[in-house]
Amino acid sequence: MKTQEMQIIFDKIKEYDRIIIFRHFRPDGDAIGSTKGLQRILKLTYPEKEIYIQNCDSSDYLAFLGGEDEPIADELYADALAIVIDTGDTKRVSNQKFSLCREVAVIDHHIQTSPYGDYRWVIEEKSSSCEMIAEFYDAFRDELKIDTEAATYIYTGMVTDSGRFRFRSVSGETLRLAGVMLDLGVDTDRLYAELYLEEYDYLKFKAYVYENMKMTENGVAYIYVDRAMQERFSLTQEKASAVVSCLDSIRGSIIWLAFIDNDDGTTRVRLRSRFVTVNELAERYHGGGHDCAAGATVYSPDEMAALLSEADALIKEYKENNEGWL
Ligand code: AMP
Repeated sequence: MKTQEMQIIFDKIKEYDRIIIFRHFRPDGDAIGSTKGLQRILKLTYPEKEIYIQNCDSSDYLAFLGGEDEPIADELYADALAIVIDTGDTKRVSNQKFSLCREVAVIDHHIQTSPYGDYRWVIEEKSSSCEMIAEFYDAFRDELKIDTEAATYIYTGMVTDSGRFRFRSVSGETLRLAGVMLDLGVDTDRLYAELYLEEYDYLKFKAYVYENMKMTENGVAYIYVDRAMQERFSLTQEKASAVVSCLDSIRGSIIWLAFIDNDDGTTRVRLRSRFVTVNELAERYHGGGHDCAAGATVYSPDEMAALLSEADALIKEYKENNEGWL
């Protein structure tokens, strides 16, 4: 459905000759898919416009989606429209130069702790920012051009951010829009191979994780990937962080966490849950996020223990007051 917010952003896209697209740091499939998907659509539709993606970090895991643009001169920002996608607050934007742009449009599905930007199309209930880019395309399909490449970027983000269309944020509309993308010729055999195939050594690491994971009294499953473990298995930060998904299918463990040591001595926490929500817990530990997928940072072993005990108390309370959880 075409909304006023979408129309305003579309009008801004038409107005500007130069558009620079941004995403959050530590990109996931949705951040990369949505930005590259929108860039491709805009390049196809407006070959005369300059459309850049400018970020300061990258992702090995998503290298199959191809790279982003080389840095452009700072002067080029001043008369450009910034479109920041999939990023809930300004601190998380990968390239802070987005603020040099004349105007900033935001397209996002994260819970907004501190809203920013001149024009905002934000729907927290959407399963992914890629779903929103698909919806944007669909709403203006009489004017916008798309191809298999753009559809593949967008479909990849829809698939990855929704847990393969599994999370509760997935609606009939999500699937309809995924269908629109699929029909543009997405090669799903190749895509799922890219997403699922793992190196032999990484499987060895996973075996280690299952040997060493722990469980609190009421069912918080967790693993601590300290520096030693990262070195022993030659893990990048990204690979180490992916470990949280190893713990996602334990019956009765409705919250699961991974603690991953950062290079700077702090510890990143990735929180996941089903039924019960964890974003408020994450907010109490310098973080935030979605109901059932959030991130935080702890600065000491004491803080780590405190977070774990709060997570345990959350499960206890939930299990005492609710039925039907699995
Ligand atoms: P992650 O475990 O890093 O993938 O985080 C899951 C979700 O939580 C992401 O989609 C982010 O929106 C959010 N998130 C992660 N870390 C933070 C943070 N430090 N502050 C606010 N939100 C965060």
